[in-house]
Amino acid sequence: GISIEGLGKGFGGTRVLRGVSLAVAAGEFVALLGPSGCGKSTLLRCIAGIEQPDAGSIRIGGREVTGLRPSGRDVAMVFQSYALYPHLTVEENIAVPLAMRRLNAAQRLPFLGALLPGTRAARESITKDVRQAAGALGLGALLSRRPGQLSGGQRQRVALARAIVRRPTAFLMDEPLSNLDASLRVQTRREIVAIHKAAGVATVYVTHDQSEALTMADRVAVMQAGEILQIAPPAEIYANPQDLRVATFIGSPR
Ligand code: ATP
Ligand code: MG
Repeated sequence: GISIEGLGKGFGGTRVLRGVSLAVAAGEFVALLGPSGCGKSTLLRCIAGIEQPDAGSIRIGGREVTGLRPSGRDVAMVFQSYALYPHLTVEENIAVPLAMRRLNAAQRLPFLGALLPGTRAARESITKDVRQAAGALGLGALLSRRPGQLSGGQRQRVALARAIVRRPTAFLMDEPLSNLDASLRVQTRREIVAIHKAAGVATVYVTHDQSEALTMADRVAVMQAGEILQIAPPAEIYANPQDLRVATFIGSPR
């Protein structure tokens, strides 16, 4: 899981995160919901290690990762805009993180490098994992296409498959569906929840779409001005908003 304590972050004179604490269990899906500019992406980027907090600590999979680079954190992140390698096929794009991991391991343990990357068992294990991730996102028939031959929705699915293929401990998504049209968005929601469940991963999903938060998440964290105001299951947030700010933001009748 993910465990964050007292996270603070400022840019220049502006405090963007004001002591954020949040715990996401393995297998739990938390939606981070809040208005534009409240600090959602900054929080996610701190968890991923793309941004360093000024205060507080982050643990992932029980390990203190504050200060570690993104590659040392066992996290996968998917953004609204995503970059696929245009010259690689779908299958090769999804395989990139697995190939990188193998390469990193080989660099740390040179004697393994001589043995591992080329072995048939290694190639077969990569192929198996890639096909499983692709299958979970309905990409099974598109494995030999290149990104230029895919629709926007299919490309986003390749990005999701690529993120999940190495089974990270934390799966972070920042408005991954906002470039898709309405019907595709609803369909892709279900697939994201399904891969989250299959992977048993701790997921944080940033959105400002309340219906997404409501339908996808185990718990919703309502964020405003750098703080998490309330974190609770969707029904409870609606039935029992903690204060007027939450009630106003989610349009609850309280
Ligand atoms: P949105 O829903 O629009 O994506 P958000 O909740 O993700 O908003 P953030 O991107 O986290 O918001 O930004 C929070 C605040 O921090 C904003 O006021 C933003 O301008 C500021 N900010 C973010 N990144 C930087 C940066 N690198 N330098 C300076 N200010 C930044
Ligand atoms: Mg954002």
